[in-house]
Amino acid sequence: MLESWRTKVAKQQPHYQAEDKLTEITQTLRTRPGLVYATEIERLTGELAAAGRGESFVLMGGDCAETFATTTEEQIRLKIQTILQMGVVLSYGASLPVVKIGRIAGQYAKPRSLDVEKRADESLPVYRGDAVNGIAYTAEERQADPSRLLEMYQHCLATLNLIRAYTKGGFADINLLHKWNEGFKTNPAYSRYESLAEDIRRALKFMVASGAEIEGLRDQDFYASHEALLLEYEAAMIRPAPHNDGLYNTSGHFLWIGERTRDIEGAHVELLSKVKNPIGVKLGPTATASEVLALSEKLNPQNLPGKFTAITRMGAEQIRNVLPPILAAVQAEGKEVVWLSDPMHGNTIQTDSGIKTRHFDTIFNEVEGFFASHQAVGTVAGGLHIELTGDDVTEVLGGAENLTEVDLEQRYESLVDPRLNHQQSLEMAFRVAELLQNGTNENLS
Ligand code: PEP
Ligand code: MN
Repeated sequence: MLESWRTKVAKQQPHYQAEDKLTEITQTLRTRPGLVYATEIERLTGELAAAGRGESFVLMGGDCAETFATTTEEQIRLKIQTILQMGVVLSYGASLPVVKIGRIAGQYAKPRSLDVEKRADESLPVYRGDAVNGIAYTAEERQADPSRLLEMYQHCLATLNLIRAYTKGGFADINLLHKWNEGFKTNPAYSRYESLAEDIRRALKFMVASGAEIEGLRDQDFYASHEALLLEYEAAMIRPAPHNDGLYNTSGHFLWIGERTRDIEGAHVELLSKVKNPIGVKLGPTATASEVLALSEKLNPQNLPGKFTAITRMGAEQIRNVLPPILAAVQAEGKEVVWLSDPMHGNTIQTDSGIKTRHFDTIFNEVEGFFASHQAVGTVAGGLHIELTGDDVTEVLGGAENLTEVDLEQRYESLVDPRLNHQQSLEMAFRVAELLQNGTNENLS
């Protein structure tokens, strides 16, 4: 049995009062079909291995927190479309295939800094994501409810169904991607990117005209990832593969362990060390080389390429100092690590009126620091991990539309962290494409 994690310290777990109900729900989940399949998971590991060698570039993106209410056809479609469009721009910039992975179909649980939320004289359990409890500030809603795990499973199933239809059924067809930058043309920064955009348009047109492998272009692989936070759910989704003796976590293709739960002795690392999926670990500014080496040993004892991904989120201020020695140590030990940049989580600020936000320029600055660190050490910058949405929200400051603090109040919908909106996401893709084309000229030494 897969129970060793139960003997370890499990941080960030809900306190369920109805334990019998939790057991009943997890038993039901164990009998349900997996959400993703072993062969897809293995294919992704292979694609991540290529990214580790610099032969492809990873784009992982989506909401900070999915919610049941926003798992609508339109919102899923816009998100997928945004990621596919960014993929076209990045692929052109890098002259490499882009591995597209959504933060989607499972991103319903959040780690929180405090267990309770106080308002006036009252104090209630904190909102931990729709997979756990409701956001409304009432005792009833904030109670952790195990039946939400089953509800999440159903939402993930519906989301994946739509993803498969869109990405295998012609939605990503090159003729449609042809129109990939419609909508962005009205962006004030468009003229800056016009020649790159025109180059991409001509390249796509040429491919269609030359009858290039249209089949391969129509059907895109689009993978699902989330933070593997709720151990009862994740454990219940682990299944033996039909074709080998491995165990696979069928809750998503790629699972990551968050900054707050990555202790080498903790239950999250223990559980995920048992499955064959590619596993990511977030690394904040306090991460050390010995921690990363220990994590890679535990999560990838055979040192297989593509199995272990480090997602750095150190902050624009710190990355240029903190990351290079870690890269050098990992390189010296010969460890197979795919490196991704999460330029969001080390750069969160609060406005004077208490709104959680980030600035576009600071986010991009961390991406530049990420590339410069890899260039200085001679390691491979494998890709990006971004919080984004396909909607026109106003959550992140700056970008070409130059969103200001006043604008944040217009359409701030994220329940947890601020996301790049559709325009800011495309702009980020263009900026990173430029970096990939030109190399980075930063000198870190
Ligand atoms: C997140 O990805 O939403 C998150 C909470 O990240 P981290 O664990 O890096 O803080
Ligand atoms: Mn977040």
